[in-house]
Amino acid sequence: MAIESEKNEGERFTYLDNNATTPMLEQARIALAERLLDGNASSMYALGRKSKAFVEDARKGFAELLGCVPDDVIFTSGATESNDTVLNIAKRLIREKGGRILSSAIEHPSIIETLKRFEADDGVEYSLCPVDGGGRIIVSELEKELVKGDVVLTSIMAANNETGVIQPISQACDLAHRHGSLFHTDATQILGKGDFDFNAGGYDYASCSAHKFYGPKGVGALVVRSGRPYYPLLTGGHQEGGRRSGTYNSTCAYAAGIAARAAKADIRSEAGRLAALRDRLREGLLERVPDISFNGNPDYLVPNTLNVSFRNVEGESILLMLDFEGICVSTGSACATGSLEPSYVLLASGTPIEDAHSSIRFSLGRENTGEDIDYVLEKLPPIIERLRQISTRGRK
Ligand code: PMP
Repeated sequence: MAIESEKNEGERFTYLDNNATTPMLEQARIALAERLLDGNASSMYALGRKSKAFVEDARKGFAELLGCVPDDVIFTSGATESNDTVLNIAKRLIREKGGRILSSAIEHPSIIETLKRFEADDGVEYSLCPVDGGGRIIVSELEKELVKGDVVLTSIMAANNETGVIQPISQACDLAHRHGSLFHTDATQILGKGDFDFNAGGYDYASCSAHKFYGPKGVGALVVRSGRPYYPLLTGGHQEGGRRSGTYNSTCAYAAGIAARAAKADIRSEAGRLAALRDRLREGLLERVPDISFNGNPDYLVPNTLNVSFRNVEGESILLMLDFEGICVSTGSACATGSLEPSYVLLASGTPIEDAHSSIRFSLGRENTGEDIDYVLEKLPPIIERLRQISTRGRK
């Protein structure tokens, strides 16, 4: 598989980084190109009304994927904005009546870094629930915090972006409600991969980004159950009933709605297909590469993700060598000011620091085939062998 639009002649991309972003679905891409000349969805003339109709159609598509009513969908620029909006609501509630926010140690930086900023700037208190060795939140620890009775908002992601581990959000939500806390879930990494139903789960808020389910970048949603506290993050316009100001990104929203419907329609067949490819990669690596370990509880993984540690090799070196072969993967490390920090998600899950440094995330998607897996299994083992030789030589 190659992402056609990225391919230069004779160049091959084997894209295995679908948790970072997904290539747009062909129907969504076509819809985007066809609708580029739409109007302002807030204008009252026919062209504007037509654009508004695209947005409303997309809202229904999102509602189908998320399992909510269309009116509860607020379009945003993506999960980062949605997460920030929810935390901002909690900050306002805390300012009015006190209390704190409860989240987990493995949330996306758009949650964790925002919490740190709130604490530094406004003195907002928060606690992070620990996770077990398989990367799942420890529900009894969550409960220990909730029983204190001062948690205003509990925010737990549905599935982790680095390990692919599915979190017990339904249980967490029930506990939060029992102790008087609102419940938000960052559903970005579960949609199109695993079961998610906003209404059945009883969640108060949920975030997502369309580019994680084959829609365009820069469009996402925050689902807010009717009647729950709400304060807009962006103000000044009347869009989304005053809940999120700014000219509608109607073209992209429309394409995202198409992607949402496809993600919902294909979830069963794709989940089975991707799990089979992922298992083929896992088995192949075990056969061909010694001294590896897998991160994340295998009983709770989304079907497309495999996080592997290759002992005694730096993840970044593997990434770069795979890049030479046209294979796109990611490491959990954040390259900040020249220093490579190991993944906080893996460290929180008890992964030894050396294994965290040597981890690679493979995340498969719609366009991957068995050929891609075979290609990786051909190219990767000699790369690891070479890198291990270099690192052993270096230590003498
Ligand atoms: N939450 C999770 C779990 C994610 O994986 C991501 C994207 N990596 C985000 C939030 C942020 O999404 P976006 O960058 O589209 O705003």
